[in-house]
Amino acid sequence: MFSKAVYPALEELKEPLTWQQLNILQNQLQSEEPNPSPQTQFNYAWGLIKSDSHKNQQQGVDILLQLYKAEISMKREVLYYLSLGSFKLGDYSDAKRYVEMLLKIEPGNAQAQQLLKDIDDKVTTDGLIGIGIAGGVLAVGIGLIGTCIAKTVLRTFNDLRINSGKPTIRSNGVKEWTVLASVVAIVGEQIHPITLATGVKVLPNSVRSYSRGMIVHDMHAEILALRLFNFFILEECTKKDSFWVKQLEGKFRFLETAQLALFVTEPPCGDLSMKNLSALLASNEPWLNETNSPSIIHRGRNNFGDLGVVRTKPGRSDSLISYSKSCSDKLCLRQLTGICNATTASIFEKIFIRYLVVNNVDDEDFHRCFIERFQNATNFQKLILLKYDHDEYKYHKCNGREPSPVSLLYVVPNNHVQVLNNGVKSGSNVKNKPPKMGTESLVCNRNFIKMLSQIQRIPHNSYLEFKRSNVNRERLKDVGKKTLQNWWPTDDDDFPLYT
Ligand SMILES: [Zn+2]
Repeated sequence: MFSKAVYPALEELKEPLTWQQLNILQNQLQSEEPNPSPQTQFNYAWGLIKSDSHKNQQQGVDILLQLYKAEISMKREVLYYLSLGSFKLGDYSDAKRYVEMLLKIEPGNAQAQQLLKDIDDKVTTDGLIGIGIAGGVLAVGIGLIGTCIAKTVLRTFNDLRINSGKPTIRSNGVKEWTVLASVVAIVGEQIHPITLATGVKVLPNSVRSYSRGMIVHDMHAEILALRLFNFFILEECTKKDSFWVKQLEGKFRFLETAQLALFVTEPPCGDLSMKNLSALLASNEPWLNETNSPSIIHRGRNNFGDLGVVRTKPGRSDSLISYSKSCSDKLCLRQLTGICNATTASIFEKIFIRYLVVNNVDDEDFHRCFIERFQNATNFQKLILLKYDHDEYKYHKCNGREPSPVSLLYVVPNNHVQVLNNGVKSGSNVKNKPPKMGTESLVCNRNFIKMLSQIQRIPHNSYLEFKRSNVNRERLKDVGKKTLQNWWPTDDDDFPLYT
């Protein structure tokens, strides 16, 4: 039905086949079951992509993805059509990615060059995304959004004047580094950083035995920025006229016109950053798993040759184990569950992150970590990768720098700042002992429950009982964990709700 030598242009996407034509292609496919030829599958996929139904388009792209893996001889045309299919689905970042992959194989392919240009032009001239920069309003293509977001977040971070919480130069002259992450809302043409958080630490699993909901175990910046976002929306629930949160038929809803992005200054730990990590190591010999941990657990960076697997947070190999999952894995799961935690999920409609804004990430790694691992899952909200230039972050990891022990939490719209150390307010940690009342963080589970109880009564005796009562969420988490495999659980951190 088409010649391999002449690829269709973007315009042809608008011309759906009649249902009779699509039926012919489908009948052909069925007549060849169980092993339809690649060409028949390809023809049907293209017919589906041209249709007006989103479901058909997605099915078409899925068929092409299978072909991409199975049929090396068709790689080039499959990439071209994957680009068209992604464009039709509105996934412009993937549309660009596929045609760029094709151009890597075939730099002189004039049709692919034209398609890339057409995609860029469309995205820009149709004003698919418009964003204001520094007072002026400028419609920009998707490629520039990442830069706008990075600039806004870093300006907000640099403008924050505080006595402690940012990396410092220690008395012995050693400089500190940390990771900064931010949840950003894109509303119309404005970028609003909602939360900013820094941090690179995680506490050992053993802390859970005495934490009683008062200690924050995972202090990696991305996870703290998301926790802080949950704090923010709970606080907004108590306001009469919140711009961000509305109550509708019993449930709360985050501003519908907002798209959320997660900005991070380093690739999230775990699967997404494995290649970046192995490139930095002098020796590429895979490290072996230690014999004292169950072999099913990929601890931190061990066996870094294994890709697409769930990992725990990285840490020194002689440190006490934390079963806390890597940021890559946690973010991946949130494509299914959304970013509400147990507390906010009980009163909020689902909220998803749309863009991950980060540099030094390979497109293929991103695809493996976030899309391929979930390819058999239904109804997951695909993250879109955005990169940025103009990196003005001053505290990147580099030789001679030591990791900052503290985490900074900053809720931008409400101007809350808190500094964490060892999972509690800085200065109040008592080693190997439960924290004292009043020293817990804004973003610990105990405080979340306290805030929720000011909004509505919680008819449960313990935190775990409350958490497990949200059957749908628990089921969805189970599906996600089973899909990702080897999701080794952390110990429980329970506490009574009414004492
Ligand atoms: Zn991390």
